[in-house]
Amino acid sequence: MNKRIDIIVVGTGASGLFYALNMPANKQILMITKTTVDASDSYLAQGGICVLKGEADYSSFFEDTLKAGHYENDKASVDVMIRTSPEIIEDLIALGVEFEKKNGEFAFTKEGAHSKARILYHEDMTGKEITGKLLAQIKKRKNITILEEMTMVDLICEDNMCSGVVACDRKGYINLFESDYVILASGGLGGLFDSSTNFRHLTGDALAIALKRKIELENISYIQIHPTTLYSQKPGRRFLISESVRGEGAVLYNRRMERFVDELLPRDLLTMAIREQMEKDESDFVWLSMKAMGSENIKTRFPNIYQHCLEEGYDVTKECIPVTPAQHYFMGGIKVDLDSKTSMKHLYAIGEISCNRVHGANRLASNSLLESLVFAKRAATHISQNYETGKQNKPYVNTNEFKDLEQLKKDYKESILAEIERSKVVELFNHTKA
Ligand SMILES: Cc1cc2nc3c(=O)[nH]c(=O)nc-3n(C[C@H](O)[C@H](O)[C@H](O)COP(=O)(O)OP(=O)(O)OC[C@H]3O[C@@H](n4cnc5c(N)ncnc54)[C@H](O)[C@@H]3O)c2cc1C
Repeated sequence: MNKRIDIIVVGTGASGLFYALNMPANKQILMITKTTVDASDSYLAQGGICVLKGEADYSSFFEDTLKAGHYENDKASVDVMIRTSPEIIEDLIALGVEFEKKNGEFAFTKEGAHSKARILYHEDMTGKEITGKLLAQIKKRKNITILEEMTMVDLICEDNMCSGVVACDRKGYINLFESDYVILASGGLGGLFDSSTNFRHLTGDALAIALKRKIELENISYIQIHPTTLYSQKPGRRFLISESVRGEGAVLYNRRMERFVDELLPRDLLTMAIREQMEKDESDFVWLSMKAMGSENIKTRFPNIYQHCLEEGYDVTKECIPVTPAQHYFMGGIKVDLDSKTSMKHLYAIGEISCNRVHGANRLASNSLLESLVFAKRAATHISQNYETGKQNKPYVNTNEFKDLEQLKKDYKESILAEIERSKVVELFNHTKA
């Protein structure tokens, strides 16, 4: 298929959907997605979404974000994210998203490294609630088309100007989609790791393409490990035990059933402590107990976690569960400015694949959905206000390059992992110099 469209969005997670909804209806938008429309990490989000509760909360929200990020965050990005958060929550509510309320007021939960409860949530399925409602709105828009099982394998570009996407469909046919703008909203890279909470098809493809096309990357070795995922010997995605479970009273035990750590440390520090304990215990996991939260509370507040653990053979209202760290989030990515522009003209990146250094070296819990939505909306505003028609004559694309897709997948994976290793060495060198 050869097709010309105004804008192509790669990915149907929260960032891609919110971007499309924020564009004017006179722009024809094509969204492509690697598997099914709801198979995104956004859909899996359990804990919630942070919001600034009022001016009095600003400095502690700012400080919590910077402290968790080891003060490597870009302060302007953090400021924009925090200041825009109330507007984003209003937008979500207007689009039909429901957050938990108590006595008519919003209920807030707390997660690791937050000094205050400032996280809005919907049971333990906040991501499903947000993504599901955004998707329902997208389906009403006549200017937006979604193609499932359509995988971006390259960008169409020349002289550092992007003019479309090369994509492979479920039958292996190569499609050339030309456009004025391309928005990369393709999520993280957990699928490259054996043990990750991410969907297996999220393999950071856009990073490999960026390397090939010499698009600037940032902090590519900054990969977050989540301290508590349900231990399992089965292959596949690791099931997350949300930080809000610890925020609401769950505790960690070593093999002698003794507490060994402050459960609300930032993710990277808690992961280190758990790994040390696992080594001492000569075990592949530590224990997590939710029992003190009470049976009814567990079932209503965390129905998804309760049900999943039950299916895996654990009744969390009565017994401990084995937990272990796993890859979870990517703080680095394609370098962008505050409007989500990349170093290539007419190419933007939003959500987890982008990096404006808002998370620094370690993301604060529940800042990710927020960041995805804030900077997706800014990209939409910037493009709408500065819209320029792109290249009319498509640069030559050699489709033979994509004949052996299995080999291409391997090459892309190797190039990303090699770049991560290279970037770690540069990091070490810079720290040694300092
Ligand atoms: C289990 C879990 C729980 C989480 N809980 C929270 C939480 O409580 N709060 C919070 O703030 N954050 C949470 N996060 C993180 C957060 O959900 C994600 O960082 C965020 O939603 C990313 O959104 P996104 O739009 O960038 O990417 P995603 O939602 O991952 O979407 C990526 C999209 O890109 C598509 N795609 C990828 N590659 C290609 C390709 N080559 N071609 C075409 N399409 C492609 C995918 O199919 C998918 O549609 C959680 C993450 C996980 C995994």
